[in-house]
Amino acid sequence: MPRAVALFSGGLDSTLAIRILQEQGFEVDALNVRTTFECCEAPAARAAAELGVRQTVLDVDDDYVDVIRSPRYGYGRGVNPCVDCRIHMAKMARRMMENLGACVVISGEILGQRPMSQKRCDLEVIARESGLEGRLLRPLSAKQLTPTIPEREGLVDRNRLYGFAGRGRRKLTALAGQLGLRVFPQPSTGCALTEESFAPRVRDLMRFDPEATSWDFELLNVGRHIRLDAATKAVIGRNAEENAALRSFAAREDASGSARIEPESFIGPVALLVGEPREPSLRLAGALVLRYTRRLEPNAQVLVRVTHDHQSRVLPIERGEADRTESCFSPL
Ligand code: SF4
Repeated sequence: MPRAVALFSGGLDSTLAIRILQEQGFEVDALNVRTTFECCEAPAARAAAELGVRQTVLDVDDDYVDVIRSPRYGYGRGVNPCVDCRIHMAKMARRMMENLGACVVISGEILGQRPMSQKRCDLEVIARESGLEGRLLRPLSAKQLTPTIPEREGLVDRNRLYGFAGRGRRKLTALAGQLGLRVFPQPSTGCALTEESFAPRVRDLMRFDPEATSWDFELLNVGRHIRLDAATKAVIGRNAEENAALRSFAAREDASGSARIEPESFIGPVALLVGEPREPSLRLAGALVLRYTRRLEPNAQVLVRVTHDHQSRVLPIERGEADRTESCFSPL
């Protein structure tokens, strides 16, 4: 039985791509690539089970931060380097194809569906730059694209592929019905890099920390980010879940230099000070913890606990310090 590897998000398009190849007698392995800014693992697992395919979930490689920092093919409306990102994922799928002895990688991409990454020239670039030229098949648009090697060799019947183009969903939904699929939802969470409101914190990180690691980029998904100066920023939890996440970030082995600041004498948010933990920056971060504390007893003493490098100490904060941060520091 011929084998294929599918780039798989769990959405309708990649689900259809798999079913089309299954109809042609292919055994398909689904590859779900998890990026730092997108999560579609749960819906993808459900869809893979529905299709009866094995799903492998892989995190993007370490050099994905370079994809975000300096994409060869530019950004979309936010800081989404979609073409470079697709190349990165297609390379991962190529390695899986080679390891499994499969003959083709398939994806649910549709010609012209996304302006940033699915123009004809983008689809060609993704195939070429990933080393998959002739081996990257888009079953939903194949009839509008150059035949791939498996089509030319007769392993894939081109007549049973499709020629969709553009953004319309109606015909795809109808095809899902014809192929015996229930209608699949789109993956539940989109990619934060496409959101214009998220872009400032990504740009800030790239501007002030050219050496930023995966840890720094992952941290962008959590809390309020407030730039204090060129060398430091504070990240403040917005709820209990984010407070717990910030504690985990601080405890990670790959954590960039950071200090954790927690309320000692009151109930309030957790903060991380990222960068050199000098006294003025720690005081500012402590003042920000106070600023984002909902309720404080009128006469209570305000103490925060600072933990850095396995050492912990208590730092008193003046209430006025929190008020002064209001006019000087805004979340990114
Ligand atoms: S939307 Fe995000 S995950 Fe999708 S291709 Fe673009 S950068 Fe990559």
